[in-house]
Amino acid sequence: MDINNIYFGTSGVPDNYFKTRYKKNRKNIVDWLLDLGLNAYEHLYTYGVRGSDEKNQYIKQKINEYNMMLSLHSPYYIVLTSDKKETIENSQKELIKTLDAAKYFNCKRIVLHPGFTNNSNALASFIKNIKEVINNHEYGKYIVPETMGKKSQLGSLEDIIAICQETGIKPSIDFGHLHARDLGCLNNEIDFQNVIIKLEKELGNESIKNLHCHFYPVAYTDKGEKVHRAVMEDDALPKFIHFASIIKEFNMKPVLISESHNSQDIGALQMKDILSKI
Ligand SMILES: [Zn+2]
Repeated sequence: MDINNIYFGTSGVPDNYFKTRYKKNRKNIVDWLLDLGLNAYEHLYTYGVRGSDEKNQYIKQKINEYNMMLSLHSPYYIVLTSDKKETIENSQKELIKTLDAAKYFNCKRIVLHPGFTNNSNALASFIKNIKEVINNHEYGKYIVPETMGKKSQLGSLEDIIAICQETGIKPSIDFGHLHARDLGCLNNEIDFQNVIIKLEKELGNESIKNLHCHFYPVAYTDKGEKVHRAVMEDDALPKFIHFASIIKEFNMKPVLISESHNSQDIGALQMKDILSKI
């Protein structure tokens, strides 16, 4: 199929990058991805919004020059479901910092983990707290809340749909997380089709057209996600080939970010290869 306007990229900087002439200097990640034939990059602010001005400027310039798709992943310690006022205020501050960075890069996909289900009001508190951020920052509307892999986390497919319906933001679908959370629910094309049909029905066609996706094989326990697996493991699920035919069927132009364990580059290239051949 025609893979124009479909984006393939890595979550963070894969191990293989550090084996190149760039060594530990992450500044050239965009150059490296381009050389591989990839056109998307998810920049991870896992432990906070940081990065030298020089590095940021360089990445920004390359992203613009080559029309790459940049997404930002907000810090993991943002918890907008807490019942502690202080935690919420600090989380909102951190999220605003991430949105400032998004504005700097003109990045319109800011991935966010919603939080935890430790109180019965988790969903309602999240919606209230995220609305305050959305209303206070011009890039707030570009936040994409992610489906989460553990049952202790807010972020089932239904949670994400409810959040998007209440706020008008778009979803981010982590298929590894969905598979793990529902103890192995993505085993064939029909399973993927059901997810896409549900999203389209509840959130409209616009929400699936340029869907932000995380893809990788996953291991899980009865509590959900255990660990991301490497893309090379033959028996690993979910399999991209099952999603690929649904992308074609629905004429989607998604952003496909690989989170395969220590092999995100290989995962992204594999997705590109599979899609271009069907
Ligand atoms: Zn994530």
